[in-house]
Amino acid sequence: MRRFDGKVAIITGAARGIGFSIAEAFASAGATTVIIDISEKSVQEAVRKLQSFEYKVIGFNADVTDGNRIDEIFKEITARYGHIDILINNAGITRDSLLMKMKEEDWDIVLNVNLKGTFICTQKISRILLKQKKGVIINITSIIGLMGNVGQANYAASKGGIIALTKSSAKEFGSRNIRVNAIAPGFIETEMTKVLPEEIVIKYLDAIPLKRMGRTKSISDLCLFLASEEADYITGQTIQVDGGLLM
Ligand code: NAD
Repeated sequence: MRRFDGKVAIITGAARGIGFSIAEAFASAGATTVIIDISEKSVQEAVRKLQSFEYKVIGFNADVTDGNRIDEIFKEITARYGHIDILINNAGITRDSLLMKMKEEDWDIVLNVNLKGTFICTQKISRILLKQKKGVIINITSIIGLMGNVGQANYAASKGGIIALTKSSAKEFGSRNIRVNAIAPGFIETEMTKVLPEEIVIKYLDAIPLKRMGRTKSISDLCLFLASEEADYITGQTIQVDGGLLM
């Protein structure tokens, strides 16, 4: 018997990076794992990769800001498996520039995907989880949402908003046995951080007490814990996984 046998876990933005690592962790722990991502080709590739290990994985191509499509997907999953146990709101983007020069469209798209996308998926799933009287939601925020960052006003605001949304939903859903927590990664090795200039990377590494970038596995391991029975009295929290960068 594996840790998540019989459970259904949905992960947004799971075609690559942190989301893919979370999907892999739940699938290898026995969960029926649902990958949602905006990139159709990457969804298919990710599903194929995980199915090659005989994991139970299905994929849907969707934009987390499209409420109707998300609703349709969640209803289809419920019809197929009878229940949904875990939602990980992971999809996120950056459009960095200094505040003075930031285009409104870059503000809007980052707030839309990161914050509104998390709200939409939370609202749509809540109807199902409230009826079931159980469920777990984990929101992937960022330490930038706690500390701010030069050139990332939009991203920081969206991630700070996710922390507040996490607390509000934990308060609203707690009495129905639904726990909502957030994970705030620091500086993790993915495509998102690959594009950073070398001098920024060196500056960060110098400021991180553990002196290295984080691995996606550190985030997925914490997701498994937060979704498990061992975490059944933890809700409304934002847990940092940042090598000690912010303390
Ligand atoms: P990534 O860019 O490698 O992956 C993000 C995935 O989300 C991609 O597959 C992309 O196609 C998908 N996506 C983007 N917009 C979407 C939309 N509208 N609807 C559905 N899917 C969409 O990023 P990552 O580094 O793996 O980051 C994952 C999450 O972790 C993000 O929320 C990010 O903000 C957060 N995070 C990352 C780091 C880091 O250092 N990498 C640090 C802190 C927080």
